[in-house]
Amino acid sequence: MDTVNNKCSICFKPLTLYGSISCKNGILCRDCAGKCSPFLSEQQIMEKTVAEMREHLEYREKNRELLKNLHFHKAVEGRNTLYVDDSAEYFLLGKSDDLVNENCDVFRTSDIEDILVTRSYQSDNEDSVNINLSISLNNPQIRNAKIRINLFPDIQRNSNEYKQAIRTAALIRKNLKNLMGGNV
Ligand SMILES: [Zn+2]
Repeated sequence: MDTVNNKCSICFKPLTLYGSISCKNGILCRDCAGKCSPFLSEQQIMEKTVAEMREHLEYREKNRELLKNLHFHKAVEGRNTLYVDDSAEYFLLGKSDDLVNENCDVFRTSDIEDILVTRSYQSDNEDSVNINLSISLNNPQIRNAKIRINLFPDIQRNSNEYKQAIRTAALIRKNLKNLMGGNV
């Protein structure tokens, strides 16, 4: 590691041994990496420049302010609960009840391009499956919000958990489609 890389490219604090991640032309410390959206994969971060990562973290701070100013209620409870704001203009997929602390990404219902329920299998075991919801967005920061629906990973096909996950995914999708007036 050269001297330039001993400091975070965003906040310039010294890097810790673990938890830092590389972007295209720099490196983010554990704190800055932790502020990124969970919907941004490590691969996507690797393809972004330091300037783009700065924009992303600015977006994340604005997101927190938006969360403080809007009022959300639960629409469909689950591993990720679907929350919708009172104007039905915004939604989010929260993991905890403290949405501001979690800094859940707030999306506009009008930015939804597509909603898919998908199954992902382990390559060596076709009976072990995860049910996912994948939302394509017209959002410069988050192009795709993908969540796993089943509480525990790798559930058995056609088990009760499987059927429950399919139902929950379909219910979230239906709720979002209703918010958009059936445009998807
Ligand atoms: Zn940093």
